[in-house]
Amino acid sequence: MTKLINLYGLDRAQLESLFVGRGLQAFRGRQLMKWVYHQGMTDFSAMTDLPKSMRQWLQDNTCFELPKVDAFKVSKDGTSKWVLDVGQGNFVEAVVIPDKGRNTLCVSSQMGCMLDCSFCSTGKQGFSGNLAAATIVGQMVLANNLLVERGERVTNVVLMGMGEPLLNFDAVVSATNIMMEDLAFGLSKRRVTVSTAGVVPAIYELAKVTDVALAISLHAPTDGLRDQLVPINRKYPIEQLLAACRHYVDHLGERRKLVIEYTLMKGVNDQLEHAIALADLLKDVRCKINLIPFNPFPASGYEKPAKQDIYKFQTYLMKQGYSTMLRTTRGDDIDAACGQLVGQVKDRTKRQTRYLARVKAHSEEVAGL
Ligand code: SAH
Repeated sequence: MTKLINLYGLDRAQLESLFVGRGLQAFRGRQLMKWVYHQGMTDFSAMTDLPKSMRQWLQDNTCFELPKVDAFKVSKDGTSKWVLDVGQGNFVEAVVIPDKGRNTLCVSSQMGCMLDCSFCSTGKQGFSGNLAAATIVGQMVLANNLLVERGERVTNVVLMGMGEPLLNFDAVVSATNIMMEDLAFGLSKRRVTVSTAGVVPAIYELAKVTDVALAISLHAPTDGLRDQLVPINRKYPIEQLLAACRHYVDHLGERRKLVIEYTLMKGVNDQLEHAIALADLLKDVRCKINLIPFNPFPASGYEKPAKQDIYKFQTYLMKQGYSTMLRTTRGDDIDAACGQLVGQVKDRTKRQTRYLARVKAHSEEVAGL
């Protein structure tokens, strides 16, 4: 049997060309989108304004398949987390964070991650492959299905779950197009954010095809430090990254800003000297800064920053004129906080084995063995 095309993965242009390729008119693709995303209808036989022969073809060749839910958890602060079975022994996670009338969905884009940032637990799982666009969009459909029960829906999406979105470029572009598409989820382009550890060539490519919001995981003001925390910095150092950032934000236009993410780790990058260097580094980049206190995980080797250091850091940046937000930890009781998403992937990199050995050594040390 030929594999069915999962229509959740096709954006408007791709649906249109699917139909044009079958000798039909492009507007049929738009009609289909409205049925699916505005009416919540995925039964082709009910789509009475589509030609019958086409409905039959859709029935035979396509599907709407959602990721399989392995587990669903709700935190005491209202944060929800899905563990999704994405096949071949791989699991990824998606999180919805309710906050002051907003529902922010944090989606995963890959099974594990190749980048191995030193402070992120996802990297410790190794890497097993990309998610299909339909699986990324599927996370949004699942979240909306939950929220609709209380008359709400996803208002913001961040690609800050597992994986490096810009290393799964085509699927991420299609999925974010669908999220921003008026005929589908219709989120404003300011409310869908791709987050990257700094895949510089892909930032230039992104500017050619979309104006989705962009967040950069910077975490350090100097190459020496960033090389240790975010290893992809050795390939694309800060100067190159900031040049790409300036290019992207110019493309977004004067009224929009980039988001700079900075995870604060005690004694590593959370001192006033770092804030001073950061403020200086970013002076030509139109941006706002998100500070994220480090969320611990076993044998991470890092600690949470002290409250007064966070305060000093943030105050300094604000005095320099940067709009600076402190991200509060949400959902940590269900391991749904930033950097705690681990899923479970069939690691192809052996990194998981090395990490688990380290966790074992660490717990033996703690137990005084
Ligand atoms: N690969 C992408 C997206 C995934 S990470 C990227 O690097 O941007 C999304 C964010 O999670 C990163 O900005 C990082 O700041 C944050 N993060 C990762 N591990 C963390 C941890 N242990 N504590 C706090 N934030 C963490």
